Amino acid sequence: MKRTILIHYHEINLKGNNRGWFENQLHRHVSALLRGAAHGTIRRFAGRLAIEIPENASRDEIGVITRRLQWVFGIANFIVARETPADIDAIKTTLAELVSSTGFESFKIDSRRGTKEFPLNSQELNQLLGAYVVELTGARVRMENPDAVFSVEIAEGRAFLSVEKIRGVGGLPSGTGGKVLCLISGGLDSPVAAWRMMRRGCRVQYVHFHSFPHTTAESQDKVRNILRVLSRYQLESVLYMVPFAETQREIVAYAPPPLRVVLYRRFMVRMAEAVAAREKAAAIVTGDSLGQVASQTLENIRTISAVAGIPIFRPLIGDDKEDIMRAARDIGTYEISIQADQDCCSLFVPRHPETMSSIEKAERAEQQLDVSKLCREAIAGMTREIIAPEF
Ligand code: ATP
Ligand code: MG
Repeated sequence: MKRTILIHYHEINLKGNNRGWFENQLHRHVSALLRGAAHGTIRRFAGRLAIEIPENASRDEIGVITRRLQWVFGIANFIVARETPADIDAIKTTLAELVSSTGFESFKIDSRRGTKEFPLNSQELNQLLGAYVVELTGARVRMENPDAVFSVEIAEGRAFLSVEKIRGVGGLPSGTGGKVLCLISGGLDSPVAAWRMMRRGCRVQYVHFHSFPHTTAESQDKVRNILRVLSRYQLESVLYMVPFAETQREIVAYAPPPLRVVLYRRFMVRMAEAVAAREKAAAIVTGDSLGQVASQTLENIRTISAVAGIPIFRPLIGDDKEDIMRAARDIGTYEISIQADQDCCSLFVPRHPETMSSIEKAERAEQQLDVSKLCREAIAGMTREIIAPEF
């Protein structure tokens, strides 16, 4: 039996003149992601992407491919199909095999005709094949919530049959949306924020601020572990580790305690902007969600954003904690994020943090600090590493 995976695009279908470029990006991404997996040729085919499966591929080997395809942005859904010539008798024979290995009492046929030269339209094909399955099994046709949906796709003289459609993650292919730099902590939120930007086609690079030796080396490893999961979606990630202890010491020594966290964040944004310039990233991304903690009130967000010369995206701004936790579970970062750790921002947190800061107050506090020297030295002490995906 010849098997082929047929991938259906998500928003690429809306892309008019640029469609070819989006398809190419997806094609390249899928080829790179499946390197080493058991597949034959991968090619653009009738407005889809087709992956040939070798005759001798095992269930497990196919499972590796279908699992990885669920990490690819730009895919609406895909089928692992049996492929035959587009000829009624061959289609019936293949459908009969599929039916005999599927348990169901109700079903429907979902036919699509990608090319017009086939003699029946999809409606006629649904009726003909539906009647045939009723004759074979005595099962009932049901349009709403059937036990089984048999997909039949006809394109370029071939027919593709399957009983299960696997959902993809949607969005736009990796690399079609430009480059951004995400402030990543070990928490739940920032990994989800990064994922949301990847889903819009961005390549995401990362910067983490650590207060080693006040924070442990394990909290840095936690970030690396999170990025091993996130790298599944874009194949590799660049991570900058920036030493932040000196900046924090200065803020704690010379600034009013209620302003500490807002000032930490203003420094993080300044340093991130320097990293973004180096990497030609066009924007900064954070995991802020409005009102979630004291540092994320509207006033504080304004005070923090005021130091940025490039856009700061906060894709979780309107999400609540439940939304974010659910997303983290689906993405695969939840279990790592909930492990206990020490973030630099949990150090020296004042008892009564300011929730209504102003730009003027923050600027006044920073007059006691050598802002550019602190930034320069942190940047001089940072390291850059590449994190590969964990499959
Ligand atoms: P998260 O779960 O992402 O840590 P949070 O709800 O704990 O978010 P904060 O700790 O206030 O919120 O952090 C807000 C945002 O600031 C984070 O989402 C992240 O983008 C950034 N951030 C916080 N700490 C760090 C850090 N040590 N390094 C890099 N970015 C950080
Ligand atoms: Mg945090």
